[in-house]
Amino acid sequence: MNLTEKVSYLKGLAEGLELSEDSKTEKIIKVMIEVLDDMALTVSDLEDDLAEVGYQLDEVDEDLAELEDYVFDDEDEFEDDDEFYQVTCPQCGEEIFLDEEDLEQDSIDCPACGTNLEFDFDDDDEIENPEE
Ligand SMILES: [Zn+2]
Repeated sequence: MNLTEKVSYLKGLAEGLELSEDSKTEKIIKVMIEVLDDMALTVSDLEDDLAEVGYQLDEVDEDLAELEDYVFDDEDEFEDDDEFYQVTCPQCGEEIFLDEEDLEQDSIDCPACGTNLEFDFDDDDEIENPEE
């Protein structure tokens, strides 16, 4: 039995008792059963709504996954082509990969030897070390 069925069963039992409106105790029991009936219907509606929301959320999730595939695939190509730069440290020969965030700074420290490398952009946006 689910909640609404249980409350219906309880209502049936209460009706069988023929509760009187004259008795305060019996009246309270009748009111309590009405409240339970309302609550059971409300909970049942909420369960239905929640199931519907869950179903819609699954659909949104699937759409978002497709969108992510599309966007990130695109971004990968973009990064491979344009967004990463490679420089070679003139001191130790370490190959350093720079992203856009690095490029917003004027210089970085070589992760291998700690030499400060200043950026100088030419027309092709390539990075050169001015001391090279
Ligand atoms: Zn270095």
